[in-house]
Amino acid sequence: MLSQKLTQDACLSCGACCTFYRVSFYWAEAEHLPAHMVEPLTPVYSCMAGTNQATPRCIALQGQIGQQVSCSVYAHRSSTCKEVQAGDSQCLKARRAAGLIPMIDVAAHHSANDQDYDQVS
Ligand code: SF4
Ligand code: SF4
Repeated sequence: MLSQKLTQDACLSCGACCTFYRVSFYWAEAEHLPAHMVEPLTPVYSCMAGTNQATPRCIALQGQIGQQVSCSVYAHRSSTCKEVQAGDSQCLKARRAAGLIPMIDVAAHHSANDQDYDQVS
């Protein structure tokens, strides 16, 4: 299957997860975010504006998906944003929905293969 090698700056040419999930978090995490970028969800949960809709796109995302993107509140992004890691299942799901090829951690695959080889020999 066609795949893209995972690199440290992989997210800078993607942004798929910022246009796929509703990004909700405990309200206090919005303390350092601009007020217009946050929407209340429940008495204790808020979400990034733009993500609680049928076709989500976080208001803080700049650029074009799959080309070049950046998060305008990167230093203050929520724990929910930090949870998604390039190459994990949430990443793969978001990239698939955006029509992007999977991000594969080549190093992890090599170590798994090496382990298999050791067992056989
Ligand atoms: S979908 Fe994956 S590669 Fe794309 S921005 Fe999110 S974590 Fe990074
Ligand atoms: S705050 Fe930044 S990392 Fe989080 S969803 Fe929005 S653009 Fe993506």
